[in-house]
Amino acid sequence: RGGDDPFTLGVASGDPQPDGAVLWTRLAPRPADPTALGDGDIPVQWRVATDERMQHVVASGTAAAVARLAHSVHVEVAGLRPGADYFYQFHVRGEESRVGHFRTAPAPQADNDRLRLAFVTCQDWPSGYYTAYRDMLQFDLDLVLHLGDYTYEYAIGATRRRGIGRPVGFTEETVDLRTYRLRHTLYKLDEDLQAAHARFPFAVIWDDHEVANDYSGLAPEYSVPSPEFTARRTAAYQAFYEHIPIRAGAAQTQFRDLRIHRRLGYGRLAQITLLDDRQYRSDNPCGDGESLRCEAALKGDYTMLGAEQEAWLSDGLNRSRTRWNIVAQQLLVAQLEHTTIQPNWFWNDAWDGYPAARARLLSDVVRSGARNPIFFTGDWHSTFVNDLKLDFKDPAAPTIATEFVTPAVTTGGDGTPYGPYYAPMVPYNPHIKYYEGDRRGYFKAELTRTHAQFDLRFVTSVERPDGVGYPEHSWIVMDGRPGASMV
Ligand code: FE
Ligand code: CA
Repeated sequence: RGGDDPFTLGVASGDPQPDGAVLWTRLAPRPADPTALGDGDIPVQWRVATDERMQHVVASGTAAAVARLAHSVHVEVAGLRPGADYFYQFHVRGEESRVGHFRTAPAPQADNDRLRLAFVTCQDWPSGYYTAYRDMLQFDLDLVLHLGDYTYEYAIGATRRRGIGRPVGFTEETVDLRTYRLRHTLYKLDEDLQAAHARFPFAVIWDDHEVANDYSGLAPEYSVPSPEFTARRTAAYQAFYEHIPIRAGAAQTQFRDLRIHRRLGYGRLAQITLLDDRQYRSDNPCGDGESLRCEAALKGDYTMLGAEQEAWLSDGLNRSRTRWNIVAQQLLVAQLEHTTIQPNWFWNDAWDGYPAARARLLSDVVRSGARNPIFFTGDWHSTFVNDLKLDFKDPAAPTIATEFVTPAVTTGGDGTPYGPYYAPMVPYNPHIKYYEGDRRGYFKAELTRTHAQFDLRFVTSVERPDGVGYPEHSWIVMDGRPGASMV
C-alpha cells in the first residue's frame, strides 16, 4: 500500500476512563518512508459519535499530527458518559480513517457487575499471524491489556512463518529512532492487529523487546550502562509513545524516561494497576540468564519497580475499595525453581532474580488488605496458573493471590516448544497449578460480584493464514477466596 491514504496504520483507542479515552492514529501515506510528510505539523479532525455511522456526534475537534513525533496523533477525549459505547473517526485533507470503537469505564461509585477483558503478550511479527486477535473479535470486551513485547528488535530475515518474503524496508535490527519507528510501522500494518485496535480499547505496557532483550533500567543484557544504550532506549521509548494510545502529556518532548505505570478504575468492581518491571529496576543481582541464586539477591537494596513505583503501588492497594484488584505486569511472579537442572537454580530476568523485591511486593499486597488480588503476567511464551505465597518453599503456606500467565500471541510460532524443558520442573513447584509451554493464544476474563472466570484460548496455528482459536481450559476464582479452580 502507499499513495494517498494517510491512515495505512489504522486507528486505536486506549486507557478508557469514566469520561473518555485516548484516541490514536498516525499519518503514514508511505509506510516505509516516515519522512514522506515533511517537517510541518498537520491538523487532523476527529469526531466521536454514539453510533457506528458517525451521525450522532457528541465531541469533535482538531489535533496536530506532530512532525517531531512521526506525525502521530494522540487525542485525550473527555466529557463523555461513563460505561457507554462510542465510535470515532479521523479526517485529514479530504481522506477519512476507518471508524473505531471504545467503551468508557463505569463511574467510580458505579455498582457494576461485569468486566470483560483479554490479556495478551509477545507478538513477534515474523513468528506468525495474529490469529489470536482475529479470534478475539467475536467477543464483546471492555478492554484488551497488552503486557509487553508488542514489538521485537531483531533483524527480520526470511519470514517463512508468514509465508511471505522479507518485508523490504523493514528488516533492520532496531537501534535508533528511524528503525524503531519502522518496526512499529510494520507491526501496525497487520490487518488483524488493526482490527483489534479498532474494535477494543487497549491498555499497553512494554516489556524488554520494545527496546532490547532482557535489559534492566539503563543496563543492556550482559553489560553495563552506557551513553549508547541510553540513546537507544530513549529512541525506543519515543517510538513506543508515537505508536501506542497512552496518555503522556502533549508537552512531552524528550523520552529518556516515560512513565507507563498507571491505574484504570472500573467502578466498584475492579481496579487495574499496570506496572513497569523494566525501566526502574536494578541490574540483575545474580547476572543475566540462569544461575544459582546468589547472596546479593537476598539483600534488600535490589529493586524490580524502583522505590517510587513500589510506594505508589502500595499506596494504591491500601486505598483500593474495589472487589477485584488486578495487577497487570510483565514478569513471572511465582517461583519456578529449576530443580531438574539444579536445586536453587533460577531464571534471573523474572521476579525469581529479585526475591527480596518480590517478598516486599507480596507482603505489601497482603498488608494492604486489597480484596481479591489477581496478577496478570506476560513474557514467558507459556501459560501458567499459579498460587502466590509469601513462602513458596512451604507447601502449607496460604495462597495470598492468584497469577495467570498468558501465552504468546505468536512468539515461537507453531514450533519451539518450551514444555520439554520447563514441564519436568513443575512438580517441584507445587504452587504452579497449570503449565503449558508449546501453544500460542491468550486469556480472556470476566469479573463479576461473585466470581471471576478465566478462559484460556489457544490457536490451531500462527503459521497458516487459516488458523483459528479454540477454548482450552477455564478457571474460576471465587470472591474472597484466593486460588483458581479449573472448571
Ligand atoms: Fe516475548
Ligand atoms: Ca520479554
